[in-house]
Amino acid sequence: MYQKSSSSVRTKSGNSFNKNRGKPASQGSRKRNGSGGPQRSEGPYVPFGSAPRKSASFGGSRSSFGRGPKRFRGVKKSIIDQNKFIKKAVPVAEVEEYVSKHKFADFNVCQELKNNIITKGYETPTPIQDQAIPEALNGRDIIGVAATGTGKTAAFIIPLINKVFMGKNQKVLIITPTRELASQIDIELREFAKGMGIRSVQCIGGARIGRQISELSRNPQFVIGTPGRINDLIKRGRLRLEGTQNIVLDEVDRMLDMGFINDIKTILSTLPNHKQSLFFSATISTRISGLIQTFLNNPVTVSVKTTVTSDNVEQDIVKVSFDQRKIEVLHDILNKPECEKVLIFGRTKRGVENLSNDLEKRGFKSSSIHGDKAQNKREKALRLFKENHVNILVATDVAARGLDIDDVTHVINYDLPENYEDYVHRIGRTGRANKRGTALTFVS
Ligand code: AMP
Repeated sequence: MYQKSSSSVRTKSGNSFNKNRGKPASQGSRKRNGSGGPQRSEGPYVPFGSAPRKSASFGGSRSSFGRGPKRFRGVKKSIIDQNKFIKKAVPVAEVEEYVSKHKFADFNVCQELKNNIITKGYETPTPIQDQAIPEALNGRDIIGVAATGTGKTAAFIIPLINKVFMGKNQKVLIITPTRELASQIDIELREFAKGMGIRSVQCIGGARIGRQISELSRNPQFVIGTPGRINDLIKRGRLRLEGTQNIVLDEVDRMLDMGFINDIKTILSTLPNHKQSLFFSATISTRISGLIQTFLNNPVTVSVKTTVTSDNVEQDIVKVSFDQRKIEVLHDILNKPECEKVLIFGRTKRGVENLSNDLEKRGFKSSSIHGDKAQNKREKALRLFKENHVNILVATDVAARGLDIDDVTHVINYDLPENYEDYVHRIGRTGRANKRGTALTFVS
C-alpha cells in the first residue's frame, strides 16, 4: 500500500519509492515540460504544502479534499473490497501461450486482403482471430467474448472486408460505444482494405453531421459509428439500413452500461431479417444474453481468456490519509522514473479536466479526454499521448473505453471505479502485449 511517511511512500505489497522531493531536474526530463521537470518545492503554481486550490480538486469541491466521506457527496461511492486492488503480477513467462491453429495465409480470403495483412505485419492470428475468422467467413453469427487488446478488431474486419470485396452490394454497420473506438476501427479498416475500392464513413457524435450526411450519400460499404448519432441519422432519413446485411456490435457490455440499449434495439430492428451479426463483449451478462437471443441466429460463441491482460499487471493501493492531499501524493508518484507513460482515471469530466490542468501547471506533460471535450480535441489529446508528446493522459471511464495505446506503464485510479468490471477494464490499458504494467488505486 502506498503511504506517505517522512521519507518515502510505500505500497502495501512492499514496493517502496523515494519521495524524492529534490529530484534532479534531469531525471525523466524527456517527458516533462520545461527544462527541469516538476519539482515539489518549485512547482510553478502550487508550492508544496500550499493550501489546496480549487483546480486541484477532483470529483469534489476544494474544501472537500481530504475531509472524508463528504468529498463523495453527489457521486456514487465505490463499494469494491480494497483487497481486490492488490495483486502481484504473474511473471510474463508464466502466462500461458496460445498455440494458433492457423496462419493468416491459411484463411480463405482474397489475395488483395492477404497482401494488406502482410503489409500490416500480421502473421499469426491472435486466439480470437484464430477462432472467429473461419466461422465468420462461413457466414455464422458470432458471439465473441473478448476484451480490447485481444485483436478483436481484425477478427471481424478481415472477414467483412472479404465479404464486401467478393460479394455484391454488401453493406456493413459497426456500432461502438465511443467515438475513439469508432475512429480506431476505421483506421484499421482502411489499412486492411487499402487499394480494394472500399469506402467507409464514421458516424459519431461531436463531429459535423453535415459532412457525415454527404459521405453517406456516396454509398460507403462500411458505416462505423456510435449509437446516438447512428440513430439520429436514421431518424433524419439519411442512413437507411434496409440493405445492410452485416452488423457488428463492439463492446456490447460497455454500450449497455452506457445506457444505449434502446438506441441499439431501435437500430437492430431496422436491419433486414437475413443478416450476419457479430457481437463482441468482454463479458456476457443477462442483459446481453437477452439481446443475443432476440437478434442472433444460431450463433457460435468464441471465447478467449479476458483476464489475461491483468495477469501481468502489478496491482496495489495507495492509501491517502485524511491529512494528505491526493494531488501531492500523485505528484510524488508521477515523479518516479518508472512512471513513463501514465493513464489516470477520474470519475467526473470536470475533475478530469481540472486534474490535467493542475498537473500541467506543476510541470508535467498531461492531456485529458472526457465527454465534454469536442471530438477534435479528444482526438488531439489521444494523439499526443499515443505519440509520446505528453506522457500523462487523464480520462473518464467512458472516454477511455476501448483505447488501444502502446506501452502504458502505469494506470492510476485517482478516483475509484464504480464497479470491479470497470476496474478490470481500466487496468487492462497497461501490461499489454505481455509487457509488465502497474495499476495503483487511490483509497482513503
Ligand atoms: P484490438 O483488440 O483489436 O484493439 O487489437 C489490439 C492490438 O493488437 C492492436 O494494436 C492491433 O494492431 C494488434 N494486433 C491485433 N491482431 C494482431 C496480430 N494477429 N498480430 C499482431 N498484432 C496484432
